Amino acid sequence: MSLDPQRTVTDLKELRALTGDDEGAQRVAWTDTWLQAREWFQSKIKHLPVQHHYDSAGNSWTTLPGASEKTLIIGGHLDSVPNGGWLDGSLGVTAGLEVLRRFAQEFSGRPPVTVRLVDWADEEGARFGRSLLGSSAFAGTSSIEADRGRTDKDGVHLEDAVKRCGFPIDRFPEATREQKNAAAYIELHIEQGPVLESMDLPLGVVLGTKGVERHAVTFVGQEAHSGSTPMNARHDALAAAAKLALEIRSIAGKHKDAVCTIGSVKTFPGIVTAVVGRCETTLDQRDLDAQILARMYREAQEASHRFAREEKCTVEWSRIWSIQPISFHPALLDFCEQAVREVSGTAHRLPSGPLHDAAEVARAGIPAVMMFVQSLRGISHNKIEDTKEAHLEMSVKALDRLASKAAHWILDPAV
Ligand SMILES: [Zn+2]
Repeated sequence: MSLDPQRTVTDLKELRALTGDDEGAQRVAWTDTWLQAREWFQSKIKHLPVQHHYDSAGNSWTTLPGASEKTLIIGGHLDSVPNGGWLDGSLGVTAGLEVLRRFAQEFSGRPPVTVRLVDWADEEGARFGRSLLGSSAFAGTSSIEADRGRTDKDGVHLEDAVKRCGFPIDRFPEATREQKNAAAYIELHIEQGPVLESMDLPLGVVLGTKGVERHAVTFVGQEAHSGSTPMNARHDALAAAAKLALEIRSIAGKHKDAVCTIGSVKTFPGIVTAVVGRCETTLDQRDLDAQILARMYREAQEASHRFAREEKCTVEWSRIWSIQPISFHPALLDFCEQAVREVSGTAHRLPSGPLHDAAEVARAGIPAVMMFVQSLRGISHNKIEDTKEAHLEMSVKALDRLASKAAHWILDPAV
């Protein structure tokens, strides 16, 4: 028997029943439900000719040794956000498992290249606010000193939560050992956005993950009485911020895939009878092209100063976080496109707005690529997250084809 994509859907439903409730998936990393999901995964590989271990950062590695030590890695993550969807991350793991089963069967337990399935630890960062925790340890880009003191909403330290699961944070850097022999990395994920559905496409080829510029932008004016202060005498910090909130639409609008968001606005004193003297906002800008991202950042800064002047205010910027765009590997992009085309008849390339573990793997210098499957209504991180079963099955087929093509390429990169 060969690939059985229906089995992936069955596995996903099993996992959902085991680790979800009426509010959605509850597989938050470093919690008991997450550990339960990992135990469930163990039960699935019991009868396969594979070896399993956890690395020092808690990533779960299932290895099917091949004739060559050169390794194809297939990735996903079993952890979810609280009240999350049933497919985010878990599709990558369960589809990868099916591909692993197929390799094991077709080659009687010994494929031409070594194939490894990784379930990354804490992709979501839902509890401690640190996304891509396990994959960044693998990539050697982790920030342990900064992460150690992070706390969850109950005051539990990240350091203690990971230790409880058997992974002392001081040993996280040893996870880079898993890079040994890694020749290619592939990951299937739900799109989590509306693009493929709007184009009526089941599958997409992911060009890379967008870079992010994230800043706190604070306008400072003058608090004043709402009754006694004439309109032309005001230093209204909210008015300046509001102009910027509208301006970022045209700043992003000049570029096809760029996005800019002001997601948070706080006004002070924040009462009905006072002109806003201080307005704290956050700006999140993303694009796949580093130059476009830099330009949007510059333009937003210039615009904020202009609006501050117009409203007789000042403005201050401080960087919250930023990351460079990551482009996936050209040869793997081609294979991904072929695989998607073979299964769905057509192939579209699109960037990813959300970050993914694949970006960390690419940062480690390992050729990587991702494939997206359509998300219904473009909704994710929500219990209503869904994908048509027919599309899920197509995605497993396409991942399997991509895996075969990547395996050939690993053995003979000249192809
Ligand atoms: Zn995910």
